[in-house]
Amino acid sequence: MQVERIKGWLLIVALVALAVVAAWKVEDLGRSDRRSLQSRPAEVMGTSCRVIAVPGDNAEPRAAASAAGRALKEAEAALRRVEAEMSRHIHASALSRLNAAPAHKPVMLPPAVLEVLRDSQDLHAQTRGAFDVTSRPLIELWRSAGEVGKLPSRADIDRARRASDWTSLELGQKTALKRTNTVQVDLGGIAKGYGIDRAAEALRAAGMAGGLVDVGGDLRVFGSPPQGQAWEVKVQDPKGPGTIVTLAVKDGAVCTSGGYHRYVTIDGRQYSHIIDPRTGEPAQAVASATVLAADTTTADAWATALSVVGEEGLAWLPKKVEALLVVAAHDQLRSVMTRGMKQRIVAGPVYPVSEKQGDASGRGAR
Ligand code: AMP
Ligand code: MG
Repeated sequence: MQVERIKGWLLIVALVALAVVAAWKVEDLGRSDRRSLQSRPAEVMGTSCRVIAVPGDNAEPRAAASAAGRALKEAEAALRRVEAEMSRHIHASALSRLNAAPAHKPVMLPPAVLEVLRDSQDLHAQTRGAFDVTSRPLIELWRSAGEVGKLPSRADIDRARRASDWTSLELGQKTALKRTNTVQVDLGGIAKGYGIDRAAEALRAAGMAGGLVDVGGDLRVFGSPPQGQAWEVKVQDPKGPGTIVTLAVKDGAVCTSGGYHRYVTIDGRQYSHIIDPRTGEPAQAVASATVLAADTTTADAWATALSVVGEEGLAWLPKKVEALLVVAAHDQLRSVMTRGMKQRIVAGPVYPVSEKQGDASGRGAR
């Protein structure tokens, strides 16, 4: 009887261990210059995720490997915490509670959600309204239009535009308050970046000398890479499986947005999942927008914003935020970029660099 019970427990322990390994596979990158551990793609925030932890050179190998293993777990936990608080797919998330709340009732929110909301409000001003997390009714309208395969009417679009905006959302120290019932928030354009920042911080806090956190192609790197002096970041071609450019980044974040990887098709035409809050229509300014910044929260939001406004937005970029846009002109794609972005390129760009680049603020490449 006793033996049977022990057997049962052993089976449960083995199954749990298997489940953990399956969710977050770890492999040793020891073949390269520096010893490092990498999680193989696991799912987080509805997309694939890869984390690399590089322990310091002086650590004793066994201790270094277990420190790197712990660091990977901390990074994963940080990502999952952000997802649990900010996902629109999770009914119990703080974001879902805010969206479900009635007007004039303060909603207690975790500090992280309030921080992202405050950042989003700043970014709304910096991007002159192009980045707007209160556009959720429009986002939902176009999402469901894609599901039924029918374009929304102008009246529907105007109604969704009027339903929600920043004047109807009040942020307090610990709470947010909706001034109308219809205001709705979608953090899909920034929460992933915020989560990546928290995961990179977790790697650092766990003593790693270097690290990479990549969620669905948006990423942050710091310190020593497993090989060489800088991390090589490849930016995906919006028109196919290849790479348009390779960047060398020591410390920083790179995010790419565009209608190419998520869109709806109505009457044979593709519509981006990114909405222009000014018109209420899906964005169509660029094929892709890649942003390099010190942190992923900034890079994520600006990549979404530049997908809305295109080249004009390059002049609005804050200092030390760099961008590369792929835009269509006369049926051909071309690249437009800021000077700082050009300096990071080690291969590419595949599409010819526009002659017309540059802007009034001197942020252009020439
Ligand atoms: P990303 O892939 O980072 O560009 O984020 C796209 C997601 O951000 C969409 O799926 C929406 O959830 C949300 N979104 C769409 N348009 C906007 C916008 N103009 N401002 C802020 N978030 C947006
Ligand atoms: Mg974004």
